[in-house]
Amino acid sequence: MDVESYSKRIDDNRKVYLDGEIVKNVATEPAFLGAVNVINSYYRLQVEKPETHTTLDRSGNAIAASLSIPESVTDLQSKRRHYKEIADLSFGMLGRTPDFMNAAIMSWAVHSEFLGDSSATSYSQNMKDYYRLCCERNLFVAHGAINPKIDRNASLGSSEHPFCGVKVIHTNEEGIVVSGAKMIVTLAPIADEIMVFNMPGLKPGDEDFALAFALPIASPGLQLVCRKPLSRGGEASFDYPLANLFDEIDSYMILTNVFVPWERVFVFKDVMRSNQFYDRSFARNHAGHQGAARAISKGEFVAGVASKIAQDLELSLSPNVQEQLGEIASDLEAAKALVERSENQSQADDSGTFNPDIAAIHALRINFPRMYSRALEKIRSLAPGSMMALPTEADFKGSNGNLLREALGSTNLNAMDRVKLLNLAWDLVGEGFGQRQLTYEIYHAGDPTIIARSQFRGYDWEKPRQSVSLSLSNIDD
Ligand SMILES: Cc1cc2nc3c(=O)[nH]c(=O)nc-3n(C[C@H](O)[C@H](O)[C@H](O)COP(=O)(O)OP(=O)(O)OC[C@H]3O[C@@H](n4cnc5c(N)ncnc54)[C@H](O)[C@@H]3O)c2cc1C
Repeated sequence: MDVESYSKRIDDNRKVYLDGEIVKNVATEPAFLGAVNVINSYYRLQVEKPETHTTLDRSGNAIAASLSIPESVTDLQSKRRHYKEIADLSFGMLGRTPDFMNAAIMSWAVHSEFLGDSSATSYSQNMKDYYRLCCERNLFVAHGAINPKIDRNASLGSSEHPFCGVKVIHTNEEGIVVSGAKMIVTLAPIADEIMVFNMPGLKPGDEDFALAFALPIASPGLQLVCRKPLSRGGEASFDYPLANLFDEIDSYMILTNVFVPWERVFVFKDVMRSNQFYDRSFARNHAGHQGAARAISKGEFVAGVASKIAQDLELSLSPNVQEQLGEIASDLEAAKALVERSENQSQADDSGTFNPDIAAIHALRINFPRMYSRALEKIRSLAPGSMMALPTEADFKGSNGNLLREALGSTNLNAMDRVKLLNLAWDLVGEGFGQRQLTYEIYHAGDPTIIARSQFRGYDWEKPRQSVSLSLSNIDD
């Protein structure tokens, strides 16, 4: 298994733009360094703890554990431990680490029969081959599923706008040529490859957009334009302790006449299969399972921040603070229970693969953002003024340093440690970094209101209804 070459691999001809400039080497760009370090640590885990982070495929080769095919509840539990330890590298702040797409790619490959074939190629076989490639090369694959919201009144097929989605322009014997845009592709600037597909919702007439394919980030014609970085450069880690280590860069992807060979095409001009791509393959279940394990890591971190502030700022004896911390702990325990339920309720499908239970995954996706948001409000309420009145590292190094060391210490903490802790808390609840993290928690897997409607449609209502029927039958007419 290749665990060494990641930083070298991503130093290629890719077209990544930051602040109007092309990035010469994404592996050394300061704005990406925190995330690059986490991905390098991800690969190192495979060497340091192979029992958790690798598995043997059916031919006896070591592969990343996130690519393993779960054949029991125990296998899913092992995968969760793998996801969780990866998430712990960033306290859950990086959502799109390689294990996220790996979980989905495994599921697309195992359930690829429905992708079918055409006279040009076998989409089903292409997906199996791509899975093998990801296993062999230990790739980091990002994804682009969401189309830019250009004109909500026009279907993709009827829109004249060249960037309303990704569209096939022409085909030849070797492959297809695509152009267009995807709205947000997180961590793609530092990934090896990108998987491009659609979420369900395409309509007849949208055939040219009904595609799924994978391609290297360095493909000619592929451009990534990054959002404003949230990290502040290596010197400012004291002042921005989380932002500087864990800014998970997002970008906008533009494709201009990009060639994709047939063997990398999984859905081609097929609205039905495009709409089935994420759910019929159970990719949502497996990517959701990874996301759930990551959420626990983040839940533990925010619980830790709240508890440490309460302890170190001598708030723990106050009954209302105890109540708030008790609520944070209870939310965390409920989230853990949902992840375990998604595993315990999983069932083998025709392929023998155990798919995490989608009702539990949806429940976590609907509830975790609320829990997370409540925890941030509580942290804010524990130290609102204290988080505002913080000198910078430069102040401590300047002529006022000794004075500030004396003036800002408290019973339990010296001044520097107190400011460090409060800076970290403010990164989480106040800074742009924290706001992006909150937005990610709420929306990264689709709007929770849309997930709730999906839960409504797919839920087994029979049992709850039966209890009401039983109750009604006991009432005398
Ligand atoms: C930080 C972050 C990182 C992300 N990373 C990635 C990534 O790497 N790859 C990727 O593919 N995607 C990514 N996403 C995209 C994410 O999947 C979408 O943001 C999410 O699906 C919500 O879609 P939207 O932002 O387009 O909202 P919209 O669809 O524009 O919706 C906006 C609002 O309108 C409402 N609305 C829209 N349509 C309807 C409707 N039909 N009925 C009722 N209400 C409606 C929604 O409820 C919502 O409140 C990321 C998102 C975030 C925030």
